[in-house]
Amino acid sequence: EKFKEGLSKTRNNFSSKVNDLVARYRKVDEEFFEELEEILIQADVGFDTVMELIDELKMEVKRRNIQEPSEVQSVISEKLVDIYNSGEELSSDLNMQPDGLTVILFVGVNGVGKTTTIGKLAHKFKSEGKKVLLAAGDTFRAGAIEQLEVWGDRVGVETIKQAEGSDPAAVMFDAIAAAKSRKADILLCDTAGRLQNKVNLMKELEKVKRVIEREIPGAPHEVLLVLDATTGQNALIQAKTFKEATNVSGIVLSKLDGTAKGGIVLAIRKELNIPVKFVGLGEKMDDLQEFDAEKYVYGLFA
Ligand code: GDP
Repeated sequence: EKFKEGLSKTRNNFSSKVNDLVARYRKVDEEFFEELEEILIQADVGFDTVMELIDELKMEVKRRNIQEPSEVQSVISEKLVDIYNSGEELSSDLNMQPDGLTVILFVGVNGVGKTTTIGKLAHKFKSEGKKVLLAAGDTFRAGAIEQLEVWGDRVGVETIKQAEGSDPAAVMFDAIAAAKSRKADILLCDTAGRLQNKVNLMKELEKVKRVIEREIPGAPHEVLLVLDATTGQNALIQAKTFKEATNVSGIVLSKLDGTAKGGIVLAIRKELNIPVKFVGLGEKMDDLQEFDAEKYVYGLFA
C-alpha cells in the first residue's frame, strides 16, 4: 500500500500513458513500439535499458504471437522485472552482523535526503528492537549536526557528535567507542556531501573509512549512497562520481514520491550495477521501503 501511494506520480504519468497507448492501437506494430519507447524514455528508464526492453518485447510478442495491444501490457511488467534482475545477481538485503556491531556509512551530496534516510533507518531498526547510535560525521555543513540530532531525538536514539568543523574521522572514532561501550547493534554514520572538490571528498571518505576499518575489522559493512530521484539523470552522474571515490555497496533512492519519472530506478541498476536497497517515499519516519523490483513494477500498474 505504501508503495502504491508513494508511486502515484510515476503511476499516473507512466501507467496512464501506457494504458492510453494500448487503448488507441488496434494492433501491435512498429509505431506502437515507437510510442512505447518514447514513454519509457520520458520516465527516465534510461536509453540503453529502453532499447533492451523494446527488443525483448518485440521478440516476446512474436514468440507468443500477440496481436492485441492489451496483451502487451502484462509482458511489459514481466520484462521490466526481468531486465532489472538480469546480469549479475545483486542482493537488496543489508549486510547485517548477527553478532556485534554493524556499521553503515551514508554518502551523498547535500540535500539528497541523507539525514532523513538515516533517521528513517534508525526508526526501522529501533522498532525491530535493535540498539542504534548515530554518528554526526558531516562536520562541514552548517546545521548538519543539529539536524541529525533532531532526527535522533525524534526517533529516540543517541547522536555522537563533536563541534562543527572538527575532524570527521575523530567523530567516527568516538562514535565507535561509544557504540562498543553501549553495546549498540547498529551505528549509522553521516558524512559530508560536498562534491565540488572530488579529491577532498575522496580523501575525507578514505580517512573516515580507514578509522572505521581499524577499529572494527570488516567494517563499514555497508556504504549506502543516497540519491534524489527527482534529479533524474543528474543522480546517475553523482553516483558515478561517488563510485569512483569509494566502494558503494547499495543505493537509497530518496524522494521517489516526488517524481513522475520513477524509471530512474531501472537506469541506476543497469548503468551502475549497484543494487537499490531502499527507496524513500515521503518525509516521515515510516516513509522508507526496502526495494523490491517486482513489487515496484507491478505497483506501477496496480
Ligand atoms: P541531506 O542534506 O542529504 O541530509 O538531506 P535532508 O535529509 O535534509 O533532506 C532534504 C529535504 O528532502 C528535506 O526537506 C526532507 O524532508 C526531504 N526528503 C528526504 N527524503 C524524502 C523523501 O523520500 N520524499 C520526500 N518527499 N522528501 C524527502
